[in-house]
Amino acid sequence: MEGKILIVGFGPGSFEHITVRAREAIQESEVIIGYNTYVDLIRDLLTHQEIVRTGMTEEVSRAQKAVDLAVHGQVVAVISSGDAGVYGMAGLVYEVLIERGWHPGELPIVEVIPGISAINSCAALLGAPIMHDACTISLSDHLTPWSIIEKRIEAAASADFVIALYNPKSGRRTRQIVETQRILLKYRNPKTPVGLVKSAYRDRQQVIRTTLDDMLNHEIGMLTTVIIGNSSTFYHDHLMITPRGYQRKYTLDTAEQRLRPGERLKPENEPWSLNAAQESLLRSRIEPQSLQNQSIISESEHRTPRDWAAAALQTLHQGEASSLNAAGSTGFATKMPVPRASIFEVAVSPGIANKKFSSSQLVLIADLVGEQGEIEYTTAHQLILRTVTEDAESLVQSLRAAGLMVLPVGEVIKIKACDFCDGEKHEGIPYAEEISRRLAGLPVEKELRIGFNGCAMSCYGAVSEDIGLVFRKGKFDLFLGGKTTGRNAAPGQRVAEGIPAEEMPDLLERIVSAYRENAFPDERFHKFFARVGEIEGFMHRDRPQTVVADAVCGS
Ligand code: SF4
Repeated sequence: MEGKILIVGFGPGSFEHITVRAREAIQESEVIIGYNTYVDLIRDLLTHQEIVRTGMTEEVSRAQKAVDLAVHGQVVAVISSGDAGVYGMAGLVYEVLIERGWHPGELPIVEVIPGISAINSCAALLGAPIMHDACTISLSDHLTPWSIIEKRIEAAASADFVIALYNPKSGRRTRQIVETQRILLKYRNPKTPVGLVKSAYRDRQQVIRTTLDDMLNHEIGMLTTVIIGNSSTFYHDHLMITPRGYQRKYTLDTAEQRLRPGERLKPENEPWSLNAAQESLLRSRIEPQSLQNQSIISESEHRTPRDWAAAALQTLHQGEASSLNAAGSTGFATKMPVPRASIFEVAVSPGIANKKFSSSQLVLIADLVGEQGEIEYTTAHQLILRTVTEDAESLVQSLRAAGLMVLPVGEVIKIKACDFCDGEKHEGIPYAEEISRRLAGLPVEKELRIGFNGCAMSCYGAVSEDIGLVFRKGKFDLFLGGKTTGRNAAPGQRVAEGIPAEEMPDLLERIVSAYRENAFPDERFHKFFARVGEIEGFMHRDRPQTVVADAVCGS
């Protein structure tokens, strides 16, 4: 007789989710060995089999019994719920066999039959929360030192994994989940979606959708699996969804895609990829003379436009700090960073309302940019300066000393105001300046344009920007979700009229924060507004459907 050990994962517990091979294995077996609860769950599948059932913490004796019986020629099924290879019996049976000198190919025959693990079954009940990199962590410290578990939680939290917590809590282990929440809150937004699934696909199934800061206010026990979203996970009604990242490359609401199929895998269209980084490095080796300093490329390998914007903003703030220190009363010198040549790029304008450069400002700009640099004028009422410099801070200070407004470029907040009738209609200017002071240049997922009109004439088209503000007699009309360009360009939705002017800067700050904290990678503001449906109490409304008519001429 050839002894056999069939290590069966029978999934969450419902018959519909037991695989065909698992059912066959149970039928084929002469003996079923399992934990009491598991034997009960598959009892209806048992016909002739002898049953060996034990309690919790008896795993080793179950594995030894299975090996003993199989060595004597019996066909034994060792059952685990979920997957036998995920915190199940598979590893332990192998370990017991190895202790006895067993090698693969020898008797007894061993077969591991996979099942649906809790991370999968619970995710399916919640929506699609493990669409991106995910990990499982068991909070049971009966066999694993807590110090190791703690390190794993910390690592998974900091690396933005979706995390499935197994064995989160029991009668005696109550502090582990509290400690886990504390660690996670160091890295994740308190409002990160969290799903609590108890007894998935069993009679007493319970699904709770909550958030990281609220999860401990719900029942969590031995039979609960806790799924914690990553920084992109969101709720859509009752569905918990983690985006895979398609938004980076694809437009999900139109059939027309920015990139054609042949272009989608090109490194230049995946600047975040390893291939793109290697190509960039290679180019810098082949054409070193095209760059003033090789360190520029090596530093840029892993940076997105948003990263560059953040770095530029930091440089601008450093400049502010050092000029403050120079003039301040402390007398301590600011420690300046070591000078290094790099291509520096900033946006410059005469001011938020003032649209006129003086000739001395233009001369200064030309001097600073030099022959090697370039100046580009843009539709955002800014000049973009690009130049190679070893001292970006001094350059910024010179521009500011000449009365110019200096801001980072790229994926940042841009504020474009009218000229207030050449300053004649000046009442709105202080608000435009305040909003600019608070928000202009902050890094965002995708360039966010805030338009500001000084009166109801709206001659500067602010209502077509992502966020439009129209100042009218001490109050504001607010427009959200405009789309300035493209085939489906449209003005923003007028969400409010007559907002007291003094409330506008705070309100706008909150709207922008919602976008900065919750937007998907590369998600434009109008798409974000449509997706979340509500920002600061302002509800999104779908635009009227376009009527398609035969064109009289043209296409
Ligand atoms: S929007 Fe009004 S205040 Fe601004 S430039 Fe036009 S007319 Fe003047």
